[in-house]
This record gives sequence, structure tokens and C-alpha cells, in this order.
Amino acid sequence: MKRTILKALLATAAIGALGLAPLAHAQDKGPIAISMPTKSSARWIADGANMVKYFKEKGYKTDLQYAEDDIPNQLAQIENMVTKGAKVLVIAAIDGTTLSDVLQKAADKGIKVIAYDRLIKGSKNVDYYATFDNFQVGVLQAQSIEKMLKLKEGKGPFNIELFGGSPDDNNAFFFYDGAISVLKPYLDSGKLVVRSKQLGMAKVGTLRWDGAVAQARMDNLLSAYYGNARVDAVLSPYDGLSIGILSSLKGVGYGTPKQPMPVVTGQDAEVPSVKSMLRGEQSSTVFKDTRELAKVTGAMIDAMLSGRKPEINDTKTYNNGVKIVPSYLLKPVSVDVSNWKEVLIGSGYYKESQIK
Ligand code: BGC
Repeated sequence: MKRTILKALLATAAIGALGLAPLAHAQDKGPIAISMPTKSSARWIADGANMVKYFKEKGYKTDLQYAEDDIPNQLAQIENMVTKGAKVLVIAAIDGTTLSDVLQKAADKGIKVIAYDRLIKGSKNVDYYATFDNFQVGVLQAQSIEKMLKLKEGKGPFNIELFGGSPDDNNAFFFYDGAISVLKPYLDSGKLVVRSKQLGMAKVGTLRWDGAVAQARMDNLLSAYYGNARVDAVLSPYDGLSIGILSSLKGVGYGTPKQPMPVVTGQDAEVPSVKSMLRGEQSSTVFKDTRELAKVTGAMIDAMLSGRKPEINDTKTYNNGVKIVPSYLLKPVSVDVSNWKEVLIGSGYYKESQIK
């Protein structure tokens, strides 16, 4: 005890001698531990890189880990972050329901937790949620189908098939519900027809957002329901799935002047999908500026660690089963060939040389 006091006095004296305020040195701030789901999608690589950049500039140490879409792997990584003494955990969960025990351990050590992009469910130990307006993502996807098929102008009937995201990712339900909120009147009136009759997340979900799974399902749909009919639109919630769906469609002859591609949506504005749009294949995507999400997350952390209340703009939408997690929702932007340059290049998110 005495020694500790002596050490503290000496440290204070040393700081005084150097004329410095007794604050932690910038490099001693943190570490901020960042747990990302996978490197198989460019968006998560960008998310991780943007956060590390943001935090480094603010003088925080960071510990960034990717779990390659393996739940036990992500759990082990987070356990390790807790043991190593993270100040804050920023987590984009693979399965939003599997983290309760490790988050209890984190809470017991006073570690703050931010759910990043994806909600963490079933735990009271989630302080804040930084994300995009996920319902609106689905609305934008469906509105692009509405626009391209001219549904508002009364055109139709058209055949459509629906794809959902991973059922262990809460976002997938928001995307699906947002899209259905726009498509429902057309489904009800028969202007849109789902020949497979596969509707609802239980039927259309795509485990782990796996493009190969979506491709296989599209193959099955085409052979079972479209032998002598045309599919006019495919609701796809994520670019990685869209690429698989488009390969399947090409496999049976879509993508020619005689048999043009159906309208196919997407999300994340990943480079292969932007290129696909420019080739006239994928119809649209939804851009979510991960630089902004990194900033919002960083501002939340700055506030929490300095005893201020983080800025939030939503206190009702994200009930994780135990509590409503206070959230900050950013705005997603619909992108197609008409605005890709302005949105993606104009904002500096990509260089034109990456796309062409
Ligand atoms: C994200 C999407 C992404 C998807 C697949 C979701 O949780 O919000 O941006 O497309 O995961 O990685």
C-alpha cells in the first residue's frame, strides 16, 4: 500500500517536473477491441480499417480481430479481449444471440460494449448500438424494384423471387420487413407473383449470408418454377448473394438481349457489384458509408470514456429481448447506374480506378 502511494507521488512529481498534466498518454488510451465477423466481404474489411484509423488518430490502441464467420472462434476472440483488459468492446456479431456469457464477464470488469452494425440480442450488457436504418435498407431495395418494373405506373404482373439474409443476424429481419412493407400491396394485388410461394424469413433466409447457398437456391427455383416462365425481379439483401444469384441466372441464359436480366437488388456497394451494375447485370445496391459508422462508434466511445452521454437518435426500435438498446442510425443510400459516380466516387469512398 505504502509503496503504491510512494510510486504515485513519484509519478506525480515526475509529471510535474516535465510540466505535463497528469493525464494518460495518448498511446495508453484503450485498448479498443474490435470483433468483426469475416474478411470474406469487403465491407467488414473496410469497417475494421476505418475504425482502426479513427481510433489511432484519437490516440487509442486497438485490437482488431476477424472470426471468419465461425461462432466459437468469435467467442474465443472476445473472451481473449476481455482477459487482456479491453476498455471497450466493439462487436459485429456473427450470431447475435450467442454472446451473453462473455458479455457478463466483460460487464463484471467494467468493460463497455457497443453493438456494431448488428444488434446483440438477449443480453443486458450492451451499452449502445451504432448502425444504419436497417428497415430503410429494405425499403430502398424494394423501391428500386418498384421503380425499375414501373409498378407505380400500373405495369405488371411480374414474377419475383425473394431472398433474405442470415436468420441469426437481426438485421436480416429488418431488411426483409422493410422490403415487404413496399412490396406487399403489389403482392396482394397480384401485380407481383412469387411462383415458388416461398415467402417469410423462415423460407427465404440465407444462412451466414453465403453467396453459394443463394446461388444453389436460385438454381432450384429456376428449374422448379421457371421452366417456361420468366423471373422479372429478385429481391437480394446483400451484394454477395446477388453475385451468386446472377451467376445462376446466367447459367440458364439470362443476360442476353433476348432474355435480359431480371431486376436484382443488393447491399453494400461492393466493388464486384458496382462493376456488375456497370455491365448491366445487377440493378442496384445500397451504400452504407462505413467511414461514418466508424465515426459514430468512435464518438460514442469518446463520450463514454470521458463520462459524457453519447449522442443517439433512436430509443425505440432495437429491443434485444432484454432491453431497448439506445442506438444511432445512419442513413443508407440507394445506388444504381444513374448515381453511382456521384455517391461512391464523389464521396471519396472509392477511386474511379477501382471500379473501371
Ligand atoms: C450488414 C450488411 C451486410 C450483411 C452481410 C449485415 O449485418 O448490415 O451490410 O450486407 O450483414 O455481411
